[in-house]
Amino acid sequence: MDTSSATTPPPVVAKASTPYTRFQDTLKRVIGKIDMNDAERAFFMEPQHIHKKDIAVQLDNGTTQMLPAFRVQFNNARGPYKGGIRFHPEADEAEVKALAALMSIKTAVVNIPFGGAKGGVQVDPKKLSKSELQKVARAYVQAFVDHVGEDIDCPAPDVNTNPIIMAWMRDEYEKITHTFSPAVITGKPLSFGGSLGRDTATARGGFFILEEMIERAALDPDELKVAIQGFGNAGMSMAHFLHNSGYTVVAVSDSQGGIYSPDGIDPVRIEKYKRKTGAVAGEYCEGSVCDIQRMKIDGVEHITNEQLLELPCDILIPAALDNVITSENAAKIKAKYILELANGPTTPEADAILDRRGVSIIPDVLANAGGVTVSYFEWSQGRSGEQWTAEKVDRELKRVILDGYKSVRREARREEMTYREAAFSVGIKRMLDAMRARGWV
Ligand code: GLU
Repeated sequence: MDTSSATTPPPVVAKASTPYTRFQDTLKRVIGKIDMNDAERAFFMEPQHIHKKDIAVQLDNGTTQMLPAFRVQFNNARGPYKGGIRFHPEADEAEVKALAALMSIKTAVVNIPFGGAKGGVQVDPKKLSKSELQKVARAYVQAFVDHVGEDIDCPAPDVNTNPIIMAWMRDEYEKITHTFSPAVITGKPLSFGGSLGRDTATARGGFFILEEMIERAALDPDELKVAIQGFGNAGMSMAHFLHNSGYTVVAVSDSQGGIYSPDGIDPVRIEKYKRKTGAVAGEYCEGSVCDIQRMKIDGVEHITNEQLLELPCDILIPAALDNVITSENAAKIKAKYILELANGPTTPEADAILDRRGVSIIPDVLANAGGVTVSYFEWSQGRSGEQWTAEKVDRELKRVILDGYKSVRREARREEMTYREAAFSVGIKRMLDAMRARGWV
């Protein structure tokens, strides 16, 4: 008997999801609730510009390597394009597009006068020497110099890039354009036009929001356990802020793996250990990338990055890469709060599962907006020649980020949305207002 009858439904082939389709999923859901016409809607679906080039970099062994490089400029209705540049073997067009779109929403959520962009080079920076790394940084600027500028598009650090790399990039830009342009790039070293507080800004902003949230929920930090995925710049600073405020940091990790201690981990000790043993090529990532796997700290358990997400804790902080909280593990997450210091860590499917389970998520476009907010302060200082004190940076950051948080909270309540949807809604409406004012739509 033939069993392959017409009643058997064809297998469902899931459409391949990419970071950009995941962004669009949330976007479409939110846009559907905002009053706008088709032309306006079309503006949000694709970036304004996608620049891509293969950059040639001569390695120390004399061979030349071609590296795919991208700068995606999503929207500049509210001001110059703004967003970091990441060096990562998996950086590709779909990822950089999604991140550029998230930057546009992020700058609008915290209401700073920028649009959104993102850059990427498809390279494993951990395999490069310091001089090779410098060549990648300069080649990137050479490739995209016509699209960058203080009033046009201002890059910044992102995954695996840091102040030293920003300094090389500014230097290259000024050499090519024969200008003095301190505001062309943010996240620079203090000695070369940087701002106080920029290095810890991403974590600081997230911490301000967390504190506000915990206070409103009448919870006691001394009783809260936190797991942090990623011990780069943002994750490490966050571990310090939490530890110093009475929270118990039970787990941290980097790309090599993590450690777990139910009684708490001392971030100072881990950072010291990491600095001593983290053998990273070219030393470029000092303070940015670590190698915890080599740590042999008494009383702690080595865990994988996947295990970290499912640990018993109250607050989970993904502070590394995207796409880590998915439909596969969302049901197993035990935290009641998720603060997204990474960009795009949660898929739309996971979002829905977590929402049903009553887990509160502070989304990336709000939770990690402290970085770009202090970039804005750095940009302003670069243009005016002023130098802000650390206290002023901290005070202004707190004001800006908590204003953003309040707008999102209000929108979530009014529109009965999740915080992610509400943040998208606030951001999109502000972008739309600017586009309408300009007469673009
Ligand atoms: N790369 C950071 C982000 O994703 C900072 C961007 C900036 O400062 O321009 O928000």
